[in-house]
Amino acid sequence: MAKNPAEPEFHQAVHEVVESLDHFLDENPKYKHARILERIVEPERIIMFRVPWVNDKGEMQVNRGFRIEMNSAIGPYKGGLRFHPTVNLGILKFLAFEQVFKNSLTTLPMGGGKGGSDFDPKGKSDNEVMRFCQSFMTELYRHIGPNTDVPAGDIGVGGREIGFMYGQYKRIVNEFTGVLTGKGLKWGGSLIRPEATGYGNVYFAQEMLKTRGESLKGKTVLVSGSGNVAQFTVEKVNNLGGKVVTLSDSSGYIFDADGIDDEKLKYVMHLKNNKRGRIKEYADKYGCKYVEGERPWTEKADIALPSATQNEINETEAITLVGNGCMCVSEGANMPSTPEAIQIFIEKGILFGPGKAANAGGVAVSGLEMTQNSMRLHWTREEIDQRLQSIMQSIHSTCCQYGTKENGFINYVDGANIGGFVKVADAMMAQGAV
Ligand code: NDP
Repeated sequence: MAKNPAEPEFHQAVHEVVESLDHFLDENPKYKHARILERIVEPERIIMFRVPWVNDKGEMQVNRGFRIEMNSAIGPYKGGLRFHPTVNLGILKFLAFEQVFKNSLTTLPMGGGKGGSDFDPKGKSDNEVMRFCQSFMTELYRHIGPNTDVPAGDIGVGGREIGFMYGQYKRIVNEFTGVLTGKGLKWGGSLIRPEATGYGNVYFAQEMLKTRGESLKGKTVLVSGSGNVAQFTVEKVNNLGGKVVTLSDSSGYIFDADGIDDEKLKYVMHLKNNKRGRIKEYADKYGCKYVEGERPWTEKADIALPSATQNEINETEAITLVGNGCMCVSEGANMPSTPEAIQIFIEKGILFGPGKAANAGGVAVSGLEMTQNSMRLHWTREEIDQRLQSIMQSIHSTCCQYGTKENGFINYVDGANIGGFVKVADAMMAQGAV
């Protein structure tokens, strides 16, 4: 802790993994002798840089840019870029650390990284966002490459931002290459990439439900957020016969007892992706409840799929959820449940899918985008969706392999942490003092 002051989210993420690995490392002392734990928490490289840009009024602005290259034992660094005013070194280190385990679980050859900036795209014009992205890439380009480090999107970085950054990279390097994922379909992107994290989380929830003879059909579902992950989570839940009754943003949440059907979802996509409006406008349009400044976890439902941001379900909210009959929580966002909330879910024996397993579908399809770029061909929608489903099933099996306890309870947190660790640790041992 003294080595990394003021990084509470990073400590939280490391603490969880260390707890899960406790017995495993005692039983497998070779990893202790090689000091894998001490090495794996230390980023291979951190890049921090100034991002100057000029706003529409001609005023000079300055933001901070980051790239954390956490671990390249099993492949090039891979992980998203986040543009949000709350971004700082500790948050990106937590995300990069989680990414190492998540990427390992996907079965694809990808190391872990994460990056971003404290730039806030909200309220900025397209031209301002473009100037920022160009300035950001003017420094980042020298550190990344299709075989070195392949960033993608995350909060605040969608198709528009990836486009601006890709254009600038191409101008500087003079190469059309798969250096970013999440690209547009007509210039190197993959089908199903926008859908992948949301769909993947619902597939993972489905696998967990199967272990108890349940399915999504007829279930009431709470979703938080209303961005990329939330939108495609709603689409897949609808598709599998469930009913989503909430969505949110950082201002509040809406509750629609009739369910957010495909027609209403189209409106949400337009509102958020084109108009860049607030979720409150949904309540105005459809005449449903809107709760300002609150999160949706006090509403009654069978399943919760948090898909906004870290630490968005606390202990009290976890108690309320379980008390209201929630049987399954599967994390679309990264680390949305606090450690105290996770404790409640596990003590009460409900199905709990941690983000590093449940939301790995996004990076998995990014990995498939890299493969298609290297092969210079395009797979069909059906082919990619099929691969995504089998990757999510494989992640679920790995969690069961490493997380099933003597009483039969599957602790998916332990399963994901140990399952993700083994492959990276073995590679690090084989590669010597790296
Ligand atoms: P988006 O930017 O598309 O959407 C984020 C949503 O979360 C918005 O509705 C936003 O509301 C809300 N949100 C962001 N910060 C906060 C906050 N501090 N408090 C409350 N609400 C907040 O991002 P994504 O959908 O891509 O990402 C959502 C989560 O999923 C993140 O945790 C991300 O790391 C994770 N994830 C994303 C992947 C992907 O493929 N995109 C892959 C794996 C994980 P507002 O508009 O008000 O900011």
